Amino acid sequence: MGSETPIHILLVSYPAQGHINPLLRLAKCLAAKGSSVIFITTEKAGKDMKAVNNITDKSATPIGEGSLTFEFFDDGLKDDDLIKIGFDGFSKQLELVGKQFLSQMIKNHVESNEPISCIINNPFFPWVCDVAYEHNIPSALLWIQSTAVFTAYYNYFHKLVRFPSDSEPYIDVQLNSSLVLKHNEIPDFLHPLSKYQFLGELILGQFKNLSKAFCVLVDSYEELEHDFIDYSSKNSILMRSIGPLFKNPIIKDANNIRGDFVKSDDCNIIEWLNTKPKDSVVYISFGTLVYLPQEQVNEIAYGLLDSKVSFLWVIKPPPKEMGLKEHVLPNGFLEETNERGKVVKWSPQEEVLAHPSLACFITHCGWNSSMEALSLGVPMLTFPAWGDQVTNAKFLVDVFGVGIRLGYGLMENKLITRDEVKRCLLEATTGEKAEELKKNAGKWKKAAEDVVAVGGSSDRNLDEFIEDIKKCGI
Ligand code: UDP
Repeated sequence: MGSETPIHILLVSYPAQGHINPLLRLAKCLAAKGSSVIFITTEKAGKDMKAVNNITDKSATPIGEGSLTFEFFDDGLKDDDLIKIGFDGFSKQLELVGKQFLSQMIKNHVESNEPISCIINNPFFPWVCDVAYEHNIPSALLWIQSTAVFTAYYNYFHKLVRFPSDSEPYIDVQLNSSLVLKHNEIPDFLHPLSKYQFLGELILGQFKNLSKAFCVLVDSYEELEHDFIDYSSKNSILMRSIGPLFKNPIIKDANNIRGDFVKSDDCNIIEWLNTKPKDSVVYISFGTLVYLPQEQVNEIAYGLLDSKVSFLWVIKPPPKEMGLKEHVLPNGFLEETNERGKVVKWSPQEEVLAHPSLACFITHCGWNSSMEALSLGVPMLTFPAWGDQVTNAKFLVDVFGVGIRLGYGLMENKLITRDEVKRCLLEATTGEKAEELKKNAGKWKKAAEDVVAVGGSSDRNLDEFIEDIKKCGI
C-alpha cells in the first residue's frame, strides 16, 4: 500500500462534540490505512478544538501510511446570532456556506491534480451528499448512532411499521421480528409528543438522501448488532460496521489528535483514579448536551452521599446561549465527599472508562458514550434524556445485559429519587447482579477487541470500504 498514490477523502462534520468524535476517529483510521484525509467542520468548532488539543489547520499530519489535515469554514454568524435564528436557521446557514466551501475545495483539488475520491458526512449534514453528487464524487454516510436506531428511522421514513402518532401516541413499535419497542423507547425525536421533532426532521433529511450515498458506515460491530446490520443489507443498503472506531489499534499512535472542545479543569483525574481500588469508582457524565434539572442533580448528589461509593462526576457549565444556570451541589457535599469523590468540568472519558478502578458508569446513553463503555467492559446505570438515548438505554439493559435502568427520559418528566439512585448504585456495584453485568460487559469488551484486530469484521469492512472507493476510480 505504501508506494501507491494516496486517495484523497473529505470528511465533513456537523459542529457538535458527539458528531466530531466518531468522524475524527474514522478520519484517523482512513489515514492510518494510507489515505490523504481532510477533516472539515466550522471555524467556531475548530477554534475550540485548536485551543484545547494543539492541532493546526491546513497542514498535513502524518498518521500511519497516510495523513490528516484540518480545514475549517466560517459559518458567517456572530455569537448572538444563534439565539435570534434558532436551530433551524443555524442549519440552513450551515448548508448555505458549507455547500459553497465544499464546492470550492473540490475544484481546488481538481486544479492541483489531487481529485477527491470520496466525501463522507455524518447526520445533520445531508446536503453534503448533494454536493458530492453534483461533482460526480462517491459519497458515504457515517451513521453515528446505533444500527437499531438507524433501523427505526428507516422504518419510520419508509412507513414500514406503525409508529406512535397524534391519534395513537402510546402504541408499541415492532422494530424487527423479535424486538418490540415501547412508545417511550423509540428514538423520541420521532414521537408526536416530543419537543424535539425538528431534530427528527433533520435526521430524516439524511434518509431522503440515502440513495445518493453508496455506503453507510456504522460505528458499531457485527457481534453487537448483527440482526440490524443484516436487516439494512437486505434492504439493499450497503452497510459496513466499522466500530468501535476509537478502539481500532491502528490509531493508537494518533491518540493525541483529538477533537475535544473543552479541557479538563483538573489534570489529576487519572492519578486520583490510580489511588482507588479495582472496581470501586462510579463515573457520572451526561455527555455534552444534556442538562438535568437542578432538582435531579440534588437527588443524584444525595444518592451518592447515602450510598457511600467513590465517584468521579462531570458537571459541565451550560453554554451561554442556553440561558441556563450552572448546577450547584448541596451544601457541604464537596466537603463530606472530599476523600471519595471528585467533581470536574470535563474528563478524558476514554481513559477514565478504561481505568481498572471503574465499577460502573451513570450515563445519558449517547451512542459514543455507550459504545465506549461497552467496548471497555464497563457496566452502566442508564439515565437517558432524549433522542436515541432512550433506545440505547433499552438495548444496554434488556438486550446487551450490561445496564440497570435508572432514568426514563426527560419526556417522562419523572424525578429519580435519591433512594432509587442509591438502590441502583448498590445493585450495580455489589452482589450477584453486579457480577452478571460485569461478566456481560467483559464479553462485549472481548468482542470489540476481536473485531478491530487485523482480520476482524470491522477491520475487514474498513479495508473493503477503501477498496470500494478505489474501484470507483477517481
Ligand atoms: N466526552 C469526554 N469527556 C467528557 C464528556 C464527554 O471526552 O467529560 C466525550 C465522550 O467520550 C463522547 C462524547 O464526548 O465521545 C459525547 O458523545 P455522546 O454521543 O456520548 O453524547 P452527546 O454529547 O453527543 O450527547
